[in-house]
Amino acid sequence: MTHPVSQPSASGKPLLEVNDLKKHFPITGGFFGGVVGNVYAVDGVSFSIARGETLSLVGESGCGKSTVGKAILRLFPLTSGQVVIDGQRIDDLSAARLRPLRRAIQVVFQDPYSSLNPRMRVRDILAEPIINFGLARSRAEIDERIAGLMDKVRLPRDAVNRWPHEFSGGQRQRIGIARALAADPDLIICDEAVSALDVSVKAQIVNLLQDLQNELGLALLFISHDLAVVEHMTHRVAVMYLGKIVELAPRREIFAHPRHPYTEALLSAVPVPDPETTRERIILKGDVPSPIRPPSGCRFHTRCPYVFDRCRSEEPDLKPTGEGHLAACHLHDPAEAHRAKPAASVPV
Ligand code: SF4
Repeated sequence: MTHPVSQPSASGKPLLEVNDLKKHFPITGGFFGGVVGNVYAVDGVSFSIARGETLSLVGESGCGKSTVGKAILRLFPLTSGQVVIDGQRIDDLSAARLRPLRRAIQVVFQDPYSSLNPRMRVRDILAEPIINFGLARSRAEIDERIAGLMDKVRLPRDAVNRWPHEFSGGQRQRIGIARALAADPDLIICDEAVSALDVSVKAQIVNLLQDLQNELGLALLFISHDLAVVEHMTHRVAVMYLGKIVELAPRREIFAHPRHPYTEALLSAVPVPDPETTRERIILKGDVPSPIRPPSGCRFHTRCPYVFDRCRSEEPDLKPTGEGHLAACHLHDPAEAHRAKPAASVPV
């Protein structure tokens, strides 16, 4: 089923548009080694991000959010759908035509230990994208850019002579951010970029990303399972379940008034900072079903506390439900107005 194109981002013309993106990984086997099935990792995802905006893609492990990031980076061919950056479609470009556009989208990965080449000094790690994308004409210009990058990520300039193993996890993630910035990008995909860090370091890196966004007008696609972090730094949130976006809304709205039962359950597990306030935890029954055989109808129906007959046979579209929300749930169909709905109201 095709979802409508995502709601326009808050600040006008989108920088990135993802339209009905699908990525199915074939499963081979059997006597002849043919295709015997598919993993429906991403199955019709649409959203947009404006310059200077952060969109967080959240959901449990295996929901397809990291696959969306990799598909945008064109780390593998898409099954179908479109990826458009600054008005230019990139999903159908050859590797040669894609190369100059790769500069625009950079990534910061989760693991600051494995994402930096241990055999390269920081200077060379940062020089690589500057040289590859032709962003400096002389050695002096490269050095000047590298010094500026170290300032931006608040590391001492002379640390460029050191090796990755000489830095802490948080410092390495700053180097990873500097490497992404070295390409002078428009969009940075942060794929669980703070998940491996201690709480205090996590906060520092999130603050750094926000400062850089304000300074440079960067768009951020923040892929995370950690809603407590997302709550403090995003403009909008897209919630994924089994390869689909089930809710997309501005931050304050989604944390205060989730409209999808899955979002409601996810948010019920986020700690409330105010000790006077309690939040009832919603424990979902069962495990996340296999993306090889997703459930019929609404994919969440096997775990949904509000499930009714229609949910088992008819897949809900992602539709506007008011106050800037898009939600994929039959409960928001006027014909189901008599049914109870997620009504969580939590402090933000
Ligand atoms: Fe639950 Fe039905 Fe809504 Fe799916 S469509 S989230 S099963 S109420």
